[in-house]
Amino acid sequence: MSDCVFCRIAAGDIPATVVRRSADALAFRDLNPQAPVHVLVIPLGHVTNAAEADAATLGAVMALARDVAADLGLVEPGYRLVTNIGADGGQSVGHLHVHLLGGRPMRWPPG
Ligand code: 5GP
Ligand code: ZN
Repeated sequence: MSDCVFCRIAAGDIPATVVRRSADALAFRDLNPQAPVHVLVIPLGHVTNAAEADAATLGAVMALARDVAADLGLVEPGYRLVTNIGADGGQSVGHLHVHLLGGRPMRWPPG
């Protein structure tokens, strides 16, 4: 989708700090980090959010997030994966993305 910012990042039309890629997914630094590590993991193909995605797409995104967390040394201290869905979920970009947050203790419940 040409009007989707994350499709444009996936296509290389908008610059992003890429940390890892797989055949089906891309991981890059969030523009407005909320933790010392804040990486977004997206499928290369456009899908609005996890509610609309098939299992293979969800698996590809989660597997890449897991691998990035290992790359960045976050497995032992721990980290958080979260995906926002729709208005009440706080989703602002309509292309499925998982937030990988780490480098500090996370609070619960989230806001
Ligand atoms: P959401 O609120 O939809 O769950 O998260 C969207 C995230 O995308 C936000 O954390 C925001 O900072 C990030 N974001 C929005 N536009 C861009 C962009 O052009 N580049 C990057 N790297 N991150 C973006
Ligand atoms: Zn898109």
